[in-house]
Amino acid sequence: MSSDDLRAPAQAFDIPIDAHMHTDLSPDSRVPMELYAAQAFERGIPEIALTDHLDFMPGAQAYEYADYPRRERLIRDLQERWAGKVRIRFGVELTYESRYEHDIREHLATHRYDYTIGSVHAMSDGPYAKSRVASWAAGKTLAEAVAPYFAEVAGAIRSGLFDTMGHLDQCKRWMLHWFSPADYAAAPELYEPLLVALVESGTALEVNASGLRYPEHETYPAAWVVARFRELGGQRVTVGSDSHLPHCFAFGLEEACEIVAAAGFDRLSLERAVDRGDLVLPERFRR
Ligand SMILES: [Zn+2]
Ligand SMILES: [Zn+2]
Repeated sequence: MSSDDLRAPAQAFDIPIDAHMHTDLSPDSRVPMELYAAQAFERGIPEIALTDHLDFMPGAQAYEYADYPRRERLIRDLQERWAGKVRIRFGVELTYESRYEHDIREHLATHRYDYTIGSVHAMSDGPYAKSRVASWAAGKTLAEAVAPYFAEVAGAIRSGLFDTMGHLDQCKRWMLHWFSPADYAAAPELYEPLLVALVESGTALEVNASGLRYPEHETYPAAWVVARFRELGGQRVTVGSDSHLPHCFAFGLEEACEIVAAAGFDRLSLERAVDRGDLVLPERFRR
């Protein structure tokens, strides 16, 4: 599917879920959680997962930003207020770094969430930090440039810690000046081990629509990657807007659902241990 086949991205209506968003319990969002619930209700979206950031590198933005008891209390209150209208899930987006895998494992063993996304981010001391990415990417091949990111993604998947792998190739955004979406599409071999690891570990693949809001105009990952995941035996996918602003709720999810349907999926997943029969894509996506 080329980007020409897609409608101009907008906030979606009538899809089963938006499974990735940030409230004012994340350091980079000021959206009150109530606003997401209200928008979901207005848009006929029956379920949302609030997935605020949690970092493990001391000093990182989301390191001990919002403590667990407070998050749990606020979200459980919200669930009660919206009961019968919108199903609200207590999720979390954990920044995966192999050097902190032990801490992440311990956190997840001692804290209960409805839903966990593992994501690799640009850390301040890593190659993709704003101050460092130019000297990192310049003169490298794509394989060399993505290697540290993809290695961490592979580690996150193989850890088996997460329901879903978040924005599989968000490094596209930071290195767009050096590598275009077409460069990635010409290197499917770079993705193959990640997709195989997803299939083998039973981790869901997220189609993260936030890239549609950026100059690359492409989901993380792109449609061809989702199709390949399915070919390899992938069973579990989900969609998320990764909203950090009120008007980004459900943004691009019509496109994300089209990508999922075109790859051959008829439903979305959420938590790993539950076979959800109710996150079926609406009729308009059926192939
Ligand atoms: Zn993220
Ligand atoms: Zn996010």
